[in-house]
Amino acid sequence: MPQTPIDTFVKDAKDFLDAHAEYKPDGFPDTMFAQFRLIADPEAWRDRCMAWQRLLYDHGFAGLTWPHEVGGRDLPSAYALAWADLESEYELPRGLFGVTLEMVGPTLLAFGTPDQKQHCAAILRGEEVWCQLFSEPGAGSDLAGVSTRATKTADGWRVNGQKVWTSEARHARYGYLLARTDPSETRHRGLTAFVVDMSSPGIDVRPLRQMTGGASFSEVFFDDVELPADATLGEVGSGWSVAMTTLGFERFSSFGRSLGRLVRQASTLGWREGGTREKFVDAVIDQRSLAAFEANMHRRLLAGVPPGPEAALAKLATGAVVSTLADAVADRLGAQLSRRDSGLDDWRLVLLSAPAFHIAGGTDEIVKTMIAERVLGLPKG
Ligand SMILES: Cc1cc2nc3c(=O)[nH]c(=O)nc-3n(C[C@H](O)[C@H](O)[C@H](O)COP(=O)(O)OP(=O)(O)OC[C@H]3O[C@@H](n4cnc5c(N)ncnc54)[C@H](O)[C@@H]3O)c2cc1C
Repeated sequence: MPQTPIDTFVKDAKDFLDAHAEYKPDGFPDTMFAQFRLIADPEAWRDRCMAWQRLLYDHGFAGLTWPHEVGGRDLPSAYALAWADLESEYELPRGLFGVTLEMVGPTLLAFGTPDQKQHCAAILRGEEVWCQLFSEPGAGSDLAGVSTRATKTADGWRVNGQKVWTSEARHARYGYLLARTDPSETRHRGLTAFVVDMSSPGIDVRPLRQMTGGASFSEVFFDDVELPADATLGEVGSGWSVAMTTLGFERFSSFGRSLGRLVRQASTLGWREGGTREKFVDAVIDQRSLAAFEANMHRRLLAGVPPGPEAALAKLATGAVVSTLADAVADRLGAQLSRRDSGLDDWRLVLLSAPAFHIAGGTDEIVKTMIAERVLGLPKG
């Protein structure tokens, strides 16, 4: 099929979004904070997100850069960037698919067998939500400390152990698991990645209530869970490099546009001269710098230069903008923020979810160490 010229694509995409979604360029960026919100009916929300993904697929706006063989459009990244620009101005039910589309899908495409890659087709059709089963009570920043065991059996593998902070595990049809397959090897050696059917007997998913009221994270327990021999993702023993590839996708997040919406929302709160206003201005400057940094990264991507380790600076800056803005808004609104009837639920959500942006996908400290070593070339500590 000949490639649609980009201006035709942009026009078609805008027509599609206008027909199916609410245009809200200055509204609260709900997708960015959806994971933290108290959702009254999680199943109805899941169904809405899956239906939206299906709609995107049916209209040719899913998997823009994914290969044809899995139902993608195989378009250059310029199309995905143009879509992201447009999409950020609409209110869309897409939070549930973040981990699935941004981390799991690209990992399956990079390491999956032809059969495993077919999951990408089901993902694009909105039929499969996935979760990422990396963190454990004793292995977060220190991911090489993973102790969940996968033991070889006659027919495949048997898994025992516990994961934690697993986003959207309660809705996930499949999980992408990092487990220790060779206990005689230490640290990052002896780990293997697996595809796990989350309905397998022996898996127990227990949602954790967050201080925001939401419960998008879960603890996941594995008690003698049997996996088939072909459940390995990548080679046995190569789990560390598979996982590091995934974290590379995760750390190249781009929230600059969504934060632009949040800053515009905040500007309506009325900032008088003085300390509070200066804090707000700091947040505005940081958001603009982040947006400029991301735009530069995107230009490089379009020129065929893959994001290097410096892309993780965007993750650090995102946490900084959210926290500075949340602090400024808390100073500005004071005690009103804690009143349930004040109509300020969105700002309360921003304040309470701000710490998560410094933790998810690697804490600030871990990212700073990586930047010190891999970008600045400082000696390893
Ligand atoms: C919104 C959100 C979504 C998440 N989703 C998932 C998910 O879907 N799947 C998943 O597997 N995990 C998920 N996580 C978990 C996340 O990956 C971990 O919380 C994170 O890696 C930190 O690990 P930890 O919580 O065990 O903290 P720890 O590693 O125990 O760290 C505690 C503190 O010690 C500091 N620290 C630790 N080691 C060092 C060091 N070497 N140098 C300097 N400081 C250090 C850390 O910076 C931190 O301040 C999610 C977390 C959040 C907030």
